[in-house]
Amino acid sequence: MASSLHDLSVAELATQLRAKSVSAVELAEHFLARAEQHAELGAFLATDRQVSLAQARAADARLAAGDAPPLAGVPVAHKDIFVTRDFPTTAGSRMLQGYRSPFDATVVARLAEAGLVNLGKLNCDEFAMGSANENSAYRPVQNPWDRTRVPGGSSGGSAAAVAARLVPAATGTDTGGSIRQPASFCGLTGIKPTYGRASRYGMIAFASSLDQAGPMARTAEDCALLLSAMCGPDLDRDSTSLDVPAEDFTRSLNESVSGLRIGLPKEFFGPGLAGDVQTAVRAALAELERQGARLVEISLPRTELAIPVYYIIAPAEASSNLSRFDGVKFGHRAKDYTDLEDMYKKTRAEGFGDEVKRRIMTGAYVLSHGYYDAYYLQAQKVRRMIADDFQRAFQDCDVIAGPVAPTVAWSLGAHGADPLADYLADIYTLPASLAGLPGMSVPAGLGEGGMPVGLQLIGNYLQEGRLLNLAHRLQQATDWHAAKPAGI
Ligand code: GLN
Repeated sequence: MASSLHDLSVAELATQLRAKSVSAVELAEHFLARAEQHAELGAFLATDRQVSLAQARAADARLAAGDAPPLAGVPVAHKDIFVTRDFPTTAGSRMLQGYRSPFDATVVARLAEAGLVNLGKLNCDEFAMGSANENSAYRPVQNPWDRTRVPGGSSGGSAAAVAARLVPAATGTDTGGSIRQPASFCGLTGIKPTYGRASRYGMIAFASSLDQAGPMARTAEDCALLLSAMCGPDLDRDSTSLDVPAEDFTRSLNESVSGLRIGLPKEFFGPGLAGDVQTAVRAALAELERQGARLVEISLPRTELAIPVYYIIAPAEASSNLSRFDGVKFGHRAKDYTDLEDMYKKTRAEGFGDEVKRRIMTGAYVLSHGYYDAYYLQAQKVRRMIADDFQRAFQDCDVIAGPVAPTVAWSLGAHGADPLADYLADIYTLPASLAGLPGMSVPAGLGEGGMPVGLQLIGNYLQEGRLLNLAHRLQQATDWHAAKPAGI
């Protein structure tokens, strides 16, 4: 049994812990040993055996006392964009190398309250900017399905760790697709809730009007368990936190999907979509249709505009957010400098990587006098129109479905010095982000090279339960989510 502990889901592990057939300490030891054994993947940026074991012992004590919270003793790991007191936090950047936060992010604290044991911090693109995890200042992450390919990004370490069964579930953040796309590339289930559902407190800011936290796991049921623990108002600490009570997302998992109208945006199935991805997505949709859902064609006419709009707004917000890294308040400071301005310049030149600098420059440009109206303001107007397009579409359907990304995971280095190639691959995830809608990725089989393909589900505001319900029903009838990379 011990050899297959890592194949168990969060729900199964929680049951075994309660039945005392395994202890939290045993689980922490088992998964940490696996993380070490698969260190070549580059998924973890920090582990600390003593810290994790102390948390596991505390969980075991509560399990023994019979007052343990529902997920007590289940291991989890966090994208290194969430600040943690017990582990260093880098945001994948040299700028924050060795940084220790004096507090835990709300999401981290809530999962700890739910009893989960933190196994460490997971690699990601620098400040969550990227689609392949190749922008990490530390190292790229390998996709466990094919070590020569990217795991997706920016939550690439989270995706690789869960796919390789180094941890049963992980947190990610999604600003323009960073939970959904790596989940799709690594054969996982991942959900980004409605903007404002999960607190952004302690989540290092990239683009504040878009950033949202969410879970990545192997099943919809596990995502529902984690999301229920993560969400809920945090009004004093995040001014954009929604004043909507926490929900138990497991409650609606088994509802019938019969009669549900699934809208397929014709723009998501156009010429840019690879044949293998289209085939897998259609197969998943056919299964939902078999269960009584109805497929209807809809249109999201401004889909293509989501790319320029996002790549104006996100850098604009990033350029402002990242101004705090000036060598004075946090992290890196240049060693040799002549005066204050020189210190700022050298600190930022040394601390930030190329993609982050590109975004800061783009952002400063679109916000500058003379260009603000032409770019930033225009982008904000189109953003509103994109959100309105979704509301029109939701008059004809209950949920929207399509691919997560145009292709399966590409080869490490394939996009080389061409950032635009990465940006264009975000086309299907950006619209929901700009509208603040919940979106998820659900495994839908394998495509080219035996690589996983994800089905994307997008819901109206606060409809996470419905997305998880559809995903769960799909997973009850198929076993795409159970597929496993070779050698894992
Ligand atoms: N790929 C997008 C970007 O580079 C989205 C990243 C994210 O969601 N954090 O900005």
